[in-house]
Amino acid sequence: MCGIFGIEGCDDAANLTYLGLYALQHRGQESSGIVSWDGGKLHFLRAMGHVSDIFHEKALADLTGFRAIGHTRYSTAGTSVIDNAQPIVVKTSFGQLALVHNGNLVNPGEIRHRLEAEGSIFQTTSDTEVILHLMAKAPRREVVESFLLALEQVRGAYSLLLIAEDCLIAARDPNGFRPLVLGDLNGQPCFASESCAFDLLGARLVRELEPGEVVVARGGKIQSHHLSQHPEPTRCIFEHVYFARPDSKVFGVSVAQSRLRMGARLAREAPAPADIVVPVPDSGMYAAMGYSRESGLPLELGLTRNHYVGRTFIEPKQSIRHFGVKIKLNPVRELLEGKRVVLVDDSIVRGTTSKKIVRMVREGGAAEVHLRISAPPTQWPCHYGIDTPIRNELIAARHSIEEIRQFIEADSLAYLSLEGLLTAVGGPAESYCTACWTGDYRVQVSSWDQRQAELFPMRSEER
Ligand code: AMP
Repeated sequence: MCGIFGIEGCDDAANLTYLGLYALQHRGQESSGIVSWDGGKLHFLRAMGHVSDIFHEKALADLTGFRAIGHTRYSTAGTSVIDNAQPIVVKTSFGQLALVHNGNLVNPGEIRHRLEAEGSIFQTTSDTEVILHLMAKAPRREVVESFLLALEQVRGAYSLLLIAEDCLIAARDPNGFRPLVLGDLNGQPCFASESCAFDLLGARLVRELEPGEVVVARGGKIQSHHLSQHPEPTRCIFEHVYFARPDSKVFGVSVAQSRLRMGARLAREAPAPADIVVPVPDSGMYAAMGYSRESGLPLELGLTRNHYVGRTFIEPKQSIRHFGVKIKLNPVRELLEGKRVVLVDDSIVRGTTSKKIVRMVREGGAAEVHLRISAPPTQWPCHYGIDTPIRNELIAARHSIEEIRQFIEADSLAYLSLEGLLTAVGGPAESYCTACWTGDYRVQVSSWDQRQAELFPMRSEER
């Protein structure tokens, strides 16, 4: 869960990257950073917080250059500290490099252990740093050769942008877990996690990078390379369910439209005896629209979301019921009073938030609350970069749907089937990763990394 953006050959590259990151803020709100290259020097700024809090006019003016990359981070590997904020900037025998990464590697511990035994000194606990160490260890005349060599050794999920002294390089892992798109801004190449970043800049979406593709951009020209591995792609379908912005095209499909189809399919698979459909904002918005259109039940915005909630808030000393959820959501009694409500959301993870939301809708006057979820039950943690808790914290890993219904105190509960979800997104079913619902992990965590995770389990909220 991170957003990355990069641009090549534009005078105000850092400024444009800042705008790109602004549009990708939903992919990570923990830290953010930009690195620019002016032809002789790398300039960078990284800090904890939101993009708009970090980059002021003066800070951006100092990030001079015609090539830049940026990152918004949501920590899934490595702890949440400034040292792990990206871009990671290093000096190597073949010049300065800066790297940003979206996704999680599945064998970083194993590589790090080997490199440390050979004398490497790591500066962060982030999995991304191993890629730079592998490059530094095998310098080649062309930086892209070193990059390709390093990528052949890592496994897992990565969409990457690398600034070198003579080019900008974009890479997507052979499984294509995370999205990465190529754009064109007045003839100059740009790259982003999602196409919504191009819309803000007025750039044209050219295409998605292919799984295993490495694109080198120099000036207005691009050159494509391919990694040697060619597995069946396993693109993360959860990007469509929850993570991506609805105005983006992900894996060539409009996210808004796939969510509308999920909702419509859910209405057919799990109708409810109700008067109105209410989305949980913002995650359930489009699926609720789809459910409403298909069922003929009116859509009512019966929950209001406060969009200005910061990362930290001061809790009152006196206990307030459901405080954590209340600060984000508030029911609209005038719309809910006496109504049988179909409440639509995208997923139940631990179940604790959902329980509070169901209660909130009931306390807001609803006569009945029927919860509908636009994806199957989340039963398995993600190894590829989505922040799901460890398995025994996932309510659906340990409880039946009826037990979950009782826990969240809904009148009824139903999930979209896996087949329904795959049909709603479209494309070949086997080209998607569905591990969070099925446990079918197509890229295995290395046994070394697995053992370390068992020896030193990191509670998900500490990630
Ligand atoms: P809970 O009921 O505590 O499991 O929380 C469910 C809420 O978490 C839903 O509104 C989801 O949209 C949201 N959600 C789902 N997946 C994630 C995730 N990986 N990170 C943060 N929130 C999520």
